[in-house]
Amino acid sequence: MTKKHDKLVDLVTPSRPTGPIAHRVKGMKDIQPGAYPAWEFLLQSAGRLARLRGFERIDTPVLESYSLYERSSGRTSDIVTKEMYSFLDKSGERLALRPEATPGIVRAYIEHGWFNLPQPVKTLWYGPLFRRDKPQLGRYRQHYQLNFDIFGEPGPLAEVELIFLIHELLNDWGIEAQIDINSLGCVDCRPNYINELVKYYKEKKHREQLCPDCRKRLIKNPLRLLDCKEPACEALAQGAPQLIDFLCEPCKQHLVKVLEFLDNLGIQYNLNSQLVRGLDYYNRTVFEVVMPSESAQRPLALGGGGRYDQLIESLGGRPTPACGFALGMERLLLYLDPNKVEVSQTRPDVFLAQLGDGPRLKSLQLFEELRQAGLTVHQAFTKNSLKSQLALANQLKVKYALIIGQKELLDGTILLRDMESGSQEVLDLKRVKSIMLKRLAKTK
Ligand code: AMP
Repeated sequence: MTKKHDKLVDLVTPSRPTGPIAHRVKGMKDIQPGAYPAWEFLLQSAGRLARLRGFERIDTPVLESYSLYERSSGRTSDIVTKEMYSFLDKSGERLALRPEATPGIVRAYIEHGWFNLPQPVKTLWYGPLFRRDKPQLGRYRQHYQLNFDIFGEPGPLAEVELIFLIHELLNDWGIEAQIDINSLGCVDCRPNYINELVKYYKEKKHREQLCPDCRKRLIKNPLRLLDCKEPACEALAQGAPQLIDFLCEPCKQHLVKVLEFLDNLGIQYNLNSQLVRGLDYYNRTVFEVVMPSESAQRPLALGGGGRYDQLIESLGGRPTPACGFALGMERLLLYLDPNKVEVSQTRPDVFLAQLGDGPRLKSLQLFEELRQAGLTVHQAFTKNSLKSQLALANQLKVKYALIIGQKELLDGTILLRDMESGSQEVLDLKRVKSIMLKRLAKTK
């Protein structure tokens, strides 16, 4: 090889890492064969129930400007200070891989003037989010969320509608989780509460017990002291003043109405005064879906949300009340009832098995013919052994297998095997479509 050629090879061949095998990036997860039916089940069920309630599917880009999150999630939030993946674009603009969905959805609401649509606007969003969090079971650096948002509805019915939808979804998925609710008040009443809270934590005996993070939070974001996971801070939070006791009259009325509606709908909830959520933009009702833990560990959150009445205005839109809720897909998958997924799987109608090249070609044609007639057909054209083809048909719980070999091809026939009873009969190949349609109409 000439030196020139060597250079060319260098240019066209990407350099290969020298390690033993390629690894995925820390905190990332692959979705492997066999796992998708459960994802699809969740998505289809969420899509169906949300559509029935007037939610419309939307999408937003994975990349947004860094400042969007600074302005919405909050400069002192964990998401912005610790977890965001951001970089300088070649143009010099700082961009971020979205760490949460709401800011992007709100940006789209403002940018495209969705306030001109009939209000309330209800949206369903699904996609990946990126947070440089500490990976552990149910916590990844790329995870997927389903987000439901309602814009333009100031009354308590918006939260109630979201909570009702969550309640229905959890039922559909066979997940017995707890719904925690709290109110964060508003700009009028929250400052009084925060003063009291700071006073409580500044008492020497309390302050001394705080973890280093909470000492910083005491200055930057005192509400977050209430949901610190450190045992000593958790114990202190139990004795802290409660926000509910400081709500102004309109906020109190709003919360009472939400709870009354939920009582009337028979939806159980748990009033949790420590629930603050980690983001700056929430006001009034906040809620979370948690899986009560049997061990001493903290309950795992499956989803969370709340009202964010000031966010649209603070990002430059006209004042618009809004509230939303996000469910974490990976966490739902940990608790999803597998039987529900199995039942939801459409059992194929027919499995086409073949033996030899000629029959394989014939079954390729028949596959298309049956599929166009509306039947769900499965095949394994790459397999040669009949035994392994029928084993797959069994695994798929197919009702009928159609088998074509050299003899059948010459006779213009096909074998129909009832996969449950094992009985077989010979059919005229020309009539197979009409016979199958008739048989399956009976069994469907
Ligand atoms: P948040 O946007 O933090 O309110 O999260 C909403 C839901 O998304 C949580 O309740 C979790 O179910 C899920 N979630 C949040 N962060 C992660 C993560 N790092 N990995 C997996 N799921 C997550």
